[in-house]
Amino acid sequence: MAEHMLKFVSIGQAMPDKRAAAERRRDFDEIYRDFARENAARQASRCSQCGVPFCQVHCPLSNNIPDWLKLTAEGRLEEAYELSQATNTFPEVCGRICPQDRLCEGNCVIEKGFEAVTIGSIEKYITETAFAEGWVKPPTPRKERGESVGIVGAGPAGLAAADVLRRLGYRVSVYDRYDRIGGLMIYGIPNFKLEKEVVQRRAALLEQGGITFVLNCEVGRDIGLEALRARHDAVLIATGVYAARDMAAAGRSLANIVPAMTYLTASNRKGLGDAVPEFDDGTLNAEGKRVVVIGGGDTAMDCVRTAVRQGAKSVQCLYRRDRANMPGSLREVKHAEEEGVEFLWLTQPTGFEGKTGRLGRVKAQKMKLGLADSSGRAVPKPVEESDIALKADIAILALGFDPEDLPAMFQAPELLVSPAGTVKIDFRRFETSLPGVFAAGDIVRGASLVVWAIRDGRDAAAAIHDHITARAAAPAAAAE
Ligand code: FAD
Ligand code: SF4
Ligand code: SF4
Repeated sequence: MAEHMLKFVSIGQAMPDKRAAAERRRDFDEIYRDFARENAARQASRCSQCGVPFCQVHCPLSNNIPDWLKLTAEGRLEEAYELSQATNTFPEVCGRICPQDRLCEGNCVIEKGFEAVTIGSIEKYITETAFAEGWVKPPTPRKERGESVGIVGAGPAGLAAADVLRRLGYRVSVYDRYDRIGGLMIYGIPNFKLEKEVVQRRAALLEQGGITFVLNCEVGRDIGLEALRARHDAVLIATGVYAARDMAAAGRSLANIVPAMTYLTASNRKGLGDAVPEFDDGTLNAEGKRVVVIGGGDTAMDCVRTAVRQGAKSVQCLYRRDRANMPGSLREVKHAEEEGVEFLWLTQPTGFEGKTGRLGRVKAQKMKLGLADSSGRAVPKPVEESDIALKADIAILALGFDPEDLPAMFQAPELLVSPAGTVKIDFRRFETSLPGVFAAGDIVRGASLVVWAIRDGRDAAAAIHDHITARAAAPAAAAE
């Protein structure tokens, strides 16, 4: 065992410096500063180099974490980067926004007693060093191939697939209805979690590698799926999930009740320097307002923390279960609380009230947790005579997302979907019910995580390569 490792007994866990909440509230910059070189090496040296590394088992990309930690501790950063990027297309993104407390770090064996190795921060440090040193290269192939692949969606699933396929020599075109590359990484996730320059820097590399981006192009409206099938040797659907769940409640039609993505996209566009009339006229700007966010997932956390930064007068978050049973990352809740957000646990909205068509109050009732349902989660039940009303100038609904109706959108009734509307695939081949059409990411899994989208995109790319090479080999085999 290397002399550099196993230092968890003598060296305590330390994250990179976190900016003070009072400072964070005033801007949209990321909240952690970067590790200094010696601190990254010290933190990496805490790893006990487990024979069965549970961190790796619980990383969706099966990253070779113990080995790149060891290389970091030894100061061999270029090798650490090579190893890290071999399994992860965007390590600079995952290091920042994976819910590590539920994945790699939450399963680190030294977590109990000594606190986990700070894997995500070290992954970010390795990759930022690689960018600064010029070790990160565009995905250029050794040899070009004649075949082409069309990818619908420039989110992490589509981009990860594009990267892998381009390296294999394919001509790759990525179509997206947005005007920028990145999917939810650019218009959903706020800048204070993932600075937009990080996404744009990676997008520029993909373009330099020869990937063609066809932006402002909605498949199903501006071009048909059939046209893409005719144009390319294979097509990958990576369109994500965007149909916002709503609630049927009295007063829902009042103005100033907005879906989370509408609110977050406006904020992200503003940060990117776009003209956003609905932000400028105050409709989607929380400045000086009493804000109530409904929901307990990561999207709700992003909304409350965005509202704080926009200068809201007060920010309250309503969630019908308790803290222990919320779907979002507890790390994010802690950040939000530090920044001044008030959480009302076990509280369910029941309706909205207002005068002259505008929201004035959110009505709610308290809940208690009953027995678990078939999913294993405790079912919330209303507490009698526990009604409350909260003054509100804007309510943001962060209740989750469902897939859009893709067979209708693509005029492709033969594209089979699950009862939930996600695209059905053969999980070994990533192929949909349409031959030569593959699918990956949230549109297959339902709303999930960037790291899973990357994993799916990489696996789908490998499946597309198998499909095209098998097809190319077929006539030759038949002629023998
Ligand atoms: P997307 O990122 O949604 O990309 C799909 C792309 O397809 C979009 O660019 C869209 O414009 C395009 N598209 C859709 N339909 C068409 C069409 N018909 N024609 C052309 N283009 C089309 N995950 C984390 O791991 N960590 C987080 O901190 C985190 N925070 C999140 C915060 C918010 C507010 C949200 C909403 C999600 C968050 N997620 C987070 C989840 C994560 O962003 C998604 O799981 C991930 O982006 C899914 O990737 P994807 O490529 O499948 O889809
Ligand atoms: Fe952890 Fe995510 Fe990195 Fe995997 S990709 S090591 S889960 S931060
Ligand atoms: Fe190191 Fe923790 Fe992974 Fe073990 S589980 S190899 S201690 S990071």
